[in-house]
Amino acid sequence: MTRVHILATGGTIAGTAPSQVAQGYRSGGLSVDALMAGVPGLGDVATLTGEQVSQVGSQDMNDALWLRLAARVDAVFAADEADGIVITHGTDTAEETGYFLHLVTGSERPVVLTGSMRPATALSADGPLNLFNAVSVAADRHARGRGVIVAINDDLHSARDVTKSSTTDVQAFVSPGAGLLGTASYGRIRYFRRPTHLHTGSTEFTVADIVALPRVDIMYAHANMPADLVRASVSLGAQGIVIAGMGNGNVSTEVAEILADVARDGVAVVRSSRVGSGDVGRNIELDDDGLGLVASDQLNPQKSRVLLQLCLARGLGPAAIQQAFLRY
Ligand code: ASP
Repeated sequence: MTRVHILATGGTIAGTAPSQVAQGYRSGGLSVDALMAGVPGLGDVATLTGEQVSQVGSQDMNDALWLRLAARVDAVFAADEADGIVITHGTDTAEETGYFLHLVTGSERPVVLTGSMRPATALSADGPLNLFNAVSVAADRHARGRGVIVAINDDLHSARDVTKSSTTDVQAFVSPGAGLLGTASYGRIRYFRRPTHLHTGSTEFTVADIVALPRVDIMYAHANMPADLVRASVSLGAQGIVIAGMGNGNVSTEVAEILADVARDGVAVVRSSRVGSGDVGRNIELDDDGLGLVASDQLNPQKSRVLLQLCLARGLGPAAIQQAFLRY
């Protein structure tokens, strides 16, 4: 039987509440063994092993944990300990962790992230079926070569395209523009497409040569945005800035001037958008060529931050960073 290794990190899928209908709960309390035991028939899908990597709500995910998780994924496959990996994760930052792993891990074997919107103790908890479907995808040889997959609420998303779009709905994830990678229905998997951009072993990124990631700050643009926030961020050590811009990645004229100044001083500046869907193109309303800025193309601010951290860790300059945003 196919071997699937579960790396548990915490999140609502491992959360517990004082009653079945309590709104408040504690993220990440249940162990990986308890999660596996909570899904009837899981052992018939694959030979399972489990490992507790962390027990955090994913709002507490950080660079160090990402590096550890990525190294662990690579090590499990290099030692041929599993045919596929499932990572149980909080939903808040699943898209960032997923995209990070999609860029840095090296294997063709399936890596599937899952989580839940309702804690494990809730009435109609969604975690058990999500875990069942995630293990089914990780055990499926047709999932190979599709990069990191987020399996949630019967939908399969590419980690590059997925984003959380609701704070509370069980149907909380969408892949704007790109659409779903496939679906999972009680373990029956269908694929609609392959990822459109380079990933896993085809990227220039690996965690083998990274000890820490550089600081990249995200700045949320809005009417009357104070321009001096940019300088504050740089003076606190940011080597890169991602703008969650208005519309097509826009900022005010005053902010654009300061961004151009810091870009001239060697800070990488990426324009993304706060809108939630659609591309951010070069030289639309802002003169990226003249100002020395990078357009995020299809990546939202939080994913732009992940890619920019990796680009800066490799020492890439603005032209190469722009190419990376088009390629990955
Ligand atoms: N705050 C939680 C987390 O990301 C939410 C969830 O898992 O749904 O860990």
